Amino acid sequence: MKERIGCFSCNRAVDWDEHYICISRLRRIKSKRGDDEIVNAMASLQVCGYCTAKALLGNITFNKEVPLLELEIAGFYWFATRLDGSGEPWDLVTEENHCTLCKSPIRDGDHYTEINVTEEISEQEAPIEVIPGSEYRLAVICDNCAGKHVVWWYDAHGNIIDVI
Ligand SMILES: [Zn+2]
Ligand SMILES: [Zn+2]
Repeated sequence: MKERIGCFSCNRAVDWDEHYICISRLRRIKSKRGDDEIVNAMASLQVCGYCTAKALLGNITFNKEVPLLELEIAGFYWFATRLDGSGEPWDLVTEENHCTLCKSPIRDGDHYTEINVTEEISEQEAPIEVIPGSEYRLAVICDNCAGKHVVWWYDAHGNIIDVI
């Protein structure tokens, strides 16, 4: 049987057909063609509909299993207010082809991590669906900064561990 998505705040299993917010990290290789291959992926934060509603009233807590970047936490709250109808722009807008944190260029062939936020829905009989038009890019992070901020975990052989 398909497993339900767990909420990183209240720990409950998100109901089928319930909307939730997902922040994902995608490690990609920059390509001139623009079809940057995804080499690693993980969800760093998943928050159920109830906790998202609570987050509009005040801060909520998150499980500490995944060390979250400040911009991911800020991005979650920003996205929650956006779903609630706020027109506030995201204040860390990324320049094309530059790291959001250190501003260094990301060149053809470089690995980088893209951080996205989406609204999703999980159905029992269908693959996870991203609500069309909900996806927003919060940041692009160079490999150097990704190492500094522990965006990825490595096994004993130096390979990145995917946590999807
Ligand atoms: Zn929750
Ligand atoms: Zn950087």
